[in-house]
Amino acid sequence: MRKYIAVDIGGTKIALGRFKEEGILEEKVVFPTRPERGYQKILEEMVENIEKFLTPDVIAIGIGTAGPLDRIKGEIYSPPNLPGWNGVPLKKDLEEAFKIPVYMDNDANAACLGEYYFGAGKGVKDLVYVTVSTGIGGGIIIDGKILHGRRDSAGEVGHQTILPDGPLCNCGNKGCLEALASGTAIAKRAKEAIERGEDTILLDWSKKEEITAKHVRSAMLLGDKVATYIWNQAMEYLGIGIGNIITILSPQRIIIGGSVGLSGEDVILKIKEIVGQRVFLVPVDMVEIVPAQLGEDVGLYGAFSVALHEITLKAT
Ligand SMILES: [Zn+2]
Repeated sequence: MRKYIAVDIGGTKIALGRFKEEGILEEKVVFPTRPERGYQKILEEMVENIEKFLTPDVIAIGIGTAGPLDRIKGEIYSPPNLPGWNGVPLKKDLEEAFKIPVYMDNDANAACLGEYYFGAGKGVKDLVYVTVSTGIGGGIIIDGKILHGRRDSAGEVGHQTILPDGPLCNCGNKGCLEALASGTAIAKRAKEAIERGEDTILLDWSKKEEITAKHVRSAMLLGDKVATYIWNQAMEYLGIGIGNIITILSPQRIIIGGSVGLSGEDVILKIKEIVGQRVFLVPVDMVEIVPAQLGEDVGLYGAFSVALHEITLKAT
């Protein structure tokens, strides 16, 4: 049985595991990234841990990490959560250390592939994965193949313009879906409402600076008017963004993940409602909109699936 090492690199922690090809996670370890110590030290800790997990039947290493990155060169270009990783040759370093192929992709594409092989995307050839948490990311699989686009920039569903003069987005554009419907955006709208002096129970729970989307959701569930307005508006924008994706790609399935996306069944119901109002040229009853299934190990399954995808495509 062929096996794979998976490495899920985040700004807070790095998870590392060994998988059997059919998707069994045999062993895993999680350690803090501590990005301030720099790439070399982090690389050393990754190498030490991979050595411990390496067995003779391991045929490849898969990596999921924050972008931007060049997945062919295997270099990462200064993601906001990994300061100092400016053009670091991670693929080359690991291939030299272990003499087996290393495949990498950004974390959203990795999660998309993880769901495709082992989660909510099983059995489907055309799907779009949308993760809604602090940001909004995504991945697109068409005819069983992840879409990379020019310089690996495809699938950035969070950066479609929804409101031409909307709030400024981290990418530089105004009114992106991410700037309107991510957890960060929801929290920001709540802080702005408080600054305007609007009456809400949110301030009873938290200092203004520490309000999160989770607080807004809890207040919405209790009927707080300000929180309800903010939450519903964000969900409407999310529904519009997903409607746009459906209109353009007409996929078989849309998979919704992330802490906001999975915060309650009402999120998907609301998305379906808006899609029903906005999408006319695609038979929306033939597009399934479902929650992601992989849970907390999605990053590891994703990293494994990046390597599995490349190896599988090569074999066909
Ligand atoms: Zn943007």
